[in-house]
Amino acid sequence: MNEQAFRANQIYDWLWVKSCTNFDDMSNVSKLLRVKLADKYVINAVKVDKSQFSSDRTIKSTFKLYDENIIEGVLIPAADRMTACVSSQVGCSLTCKFCATGYMDRKRNLNADEIYDQVVLIDQQAKLNYQIPLTNIVYMGMGEPLLNYANVLKSIERITSDTGLNMAAKRITVSTAGIAKMIKKLGDDQVRFNLALSLHAANDIKRNEIMPINEQNSLKALAEALKYYFSKTKNPVTFEYIVFDNFNDELQDAAELAKFCKHIPCKVNIIEYNPISFAEYQNAGVDKIEAFADYLKKQGVNTNIRRSRGKDIDAACGQLAVKQTA
Ligand code: SF4
Repeated sequence: MNEQAFRANQIYDWLWVKSCTNFDDMSNVSKLLRVKLADKYVINAVKVDKSQFSSDRTIKSTFKLYDENIIEGVLIPAADRMTACVSSQVGCSLTCKFCATGYMDRKRNLNADEIYDQVVLIDQQAKLNYQIPLTNIVYMGMGEPLLNYANVLKSIERITSDTGLNMAAKRITVSTAGIAKMIKKLGDDQVRFNLALSLHAANDIKRNEIMPINEQNSLKALAEALKYYFSKTKNPVTFEYIVFDNFNDELQDAAELAKFCKHIPCKVNIIEYNPISFAEYQNAGVDKIEAFADYLKKQGVNTNIRRSRGKDIDAACGQLAVKQTA
């Protein structure tokens, strides 16, 4: 635009550091340039559509994108951390049987700036409601992050940049349903953030049943990809496992999981399930879950049981499905 170079830095600062959504607010930019910018460009800002507050202080928000599509993101406050759970796609092309998002079509990928904006908006909610900024980000909302690889990595680059949100990569976790080829690519790209794999069964027959993506990405292929990833990054991996009642809740299942864990340094998070109306899966009983976890621990597997948050507002794991607009 034949402007002086420092103007570009000013505008960059307004967009990425100050998260400005209107050219007219860029107060150190000349009025004339602000008008020229507004004539030529638009800022496709993400906006909070609605927020719901859980009795456990979790806040679920629907966000409206520039094209009227809606996604969901969640703020999860805990004693030692303030976590944002963000979406990476509008809907999801995978069809995990236990997940509400899996029953929606994938409409499109989110752009890197849209993922970044979700984080900024959830950070604002954390500061406004709890006076604490975000400490952690998990890519566990709607969508499969590794099927929107470039935008997810670009958003993390901005979130971790000192000219962005300046967050440590170690505070970010990307969770995948298991795309072997892309796990290898994470290794090649030597990423510094954490990787979690939604495993839920360490047996191909059972995993095929609940996660059809396993048909092209068998446990053997995933184990190979994870070993490659670890050899390149030296990052341990987290396996997420929901103990479903009468499906994968026996000690035999725990034994298969413990065996799978031997492939690379890892830990297991046992996640509480939140039944959805589309599917018949139920969470196993507390005794079964504890016996399952104890077995893993005895086998030397670092295991934690994670309670779900925001169940009363459908904000918990596997429940994101934009009910308001469906
Ligand atoms: S669990 Fe994740 S990958 Fe599977 S359908 Fe749900 S959003 Fe998609």
